Amino acid sequence: MADLTEKQMDKRERAKERREKRRQEISLLRSIPYSEHQRWWSAETIAVVTGANRGIGFEIAHQLALQGVTVVLTSREIAVGEESAKVLQEGGLKVVFHQLDVLDQESIDTFCAWIKENYGGIDILINNAGFNHNVGSENSVEFAEKVIKTNYNGTKNMVKAAIPLMKPNAAGARIVNVSSRLGRLNGRKNRISDDALRQKLEDADSISEELIDATINKFLEQAKDGSWTDGGWPQNNTDYSLSKVAVNAYTRLVARELADRPEGEKIFINCYCPGWVKTAMTGWAGQVTPEEGADTAIWLSLLPDMRISGKFFAERREIHF
Ligand code: NDP
Repeated sequence: MADLTEKQMDKRERAKERREKRRQEISLLRSIPYSEHQRWWSAETIAVVTGANRGIGFEIAHQLALQGVTVVLTSREIAVGEESAKVLQEGGLKVVFHQLDVLDQESIDTFCAWIKENYGGIDILINNAGFNHNVGSENSVEFAEKVIKTNYNGTKNMVKAAIPLMKPNAAGARIVNVSSRLGRLNGRKNRISDDALRQKLEDADSISEELIDATINKFLEQAKDGSWTDGGWPQNNTDYSLSKVAVNAYTRLVARELADRPEGEKIFINCYCPGWVKTAMTGWAGQVTPEEGADTAIWLSLLPDMRISGKFFAERREIHF
């Protein structure tokens, strides 16, 4: 038993060392500026970030603006969003604010009409808005509906509304969905126990919106009648993990649907895990800063010679779903 504990500690130490090494590599990569021939974007390039008034979303808006893109910082609360945008505008960055609640269709429609009229469309969409009621090891499902609606339906609402607005662009338009490793289908510690369901959700060729919605709805029903604990759902942050399983599956589904678009009209859609980030969502208990958590979103948004779609990333590398 003592041996096992030592082995486990060794494994943890090694994982910690690997994480730290990658963190240093990324910090180095971030210090290398994009060269002129890599920069397919300009101040005419329009990036929209949801839930950008704070946390990772604010940092994504900040770093995209630092790269010279025009950023539309959105937030459901007007006053806080305007304040956040002002901070970046005062730093000389091209950032504009617009109200956007990803769960309110009227707000989405108003936003889309405004962006079409003022900018002709969107080049980069970052679906960052999210919610998790539990902090640490808590696992209440009291707010399961809000968690799933915000993370999954909010992302879906925005993808559906934005696709017709994505601008033709030789480098390809980009959609980045902020997800989480907690939503991995084949995570060792935290996964759906039904092998057949996992396989169906993993199969990019046959996955459907109906399957994703049916999976989520089954969980929500069980969350309401109390039977969810025996449902074979992920054990850790159950509602949140499932919301991100759904985001990941939906990312692959949309990538498949968009795959046949002609050159010049390509839209690349991917998802990523920002790591465990020090934000309000984690009670500021994460391992990395919001700047670091934003990095892979910026990398995916600006990647020159982009050909990748329907994949899952973390720390600028592809990871398994
Ligand atoms: P925060 O709680 O700091 O920020 C969440 C943001 O989402 C806020 O701006 C919030 O707005 C916004 N939001 C919530 N609901 C809506 C809505 N209906 N419409 C528009 N905006 C909304 O969290 P983080 O910055 O940590 O999280 C950002 C993303 O990163 C989320 O998708 C999260 O799941 C993901 N993530 C975070 C991790 C972490 O360790 N922090 C780990 C893995 C993934 P308001 O201020 O009005 O509430």
